[in-house]
Amino acid sequence: MGFEWVAYFECSACGTAERADVIEYDCFGYAVCPACGHETGPLASANSNTSVNVGVDGDSRTAP
Ligand SMILES: [Zn+2]
Repeated sequence: MGFEWVAYFECSACGTAERADVIEYDCFGYAVCPACGHETGPLASANSNTSVNVGVDGDSRTAP
């Protein structure tokens, strides 16, 4: 099967549509518009909160 799952990001500020796998994400994991720099997510307007919340765990795969 040649089905390719491609998610698309659409900027709510300027309407730019781009493939979700080529856009950039901020430290919170929210998509950042490549055209205008608008950040998506519930905290997009709360830029004063700079607390680092790293939730990335590399190869921690646990078998059931
Ligand atoms: Zn935009």
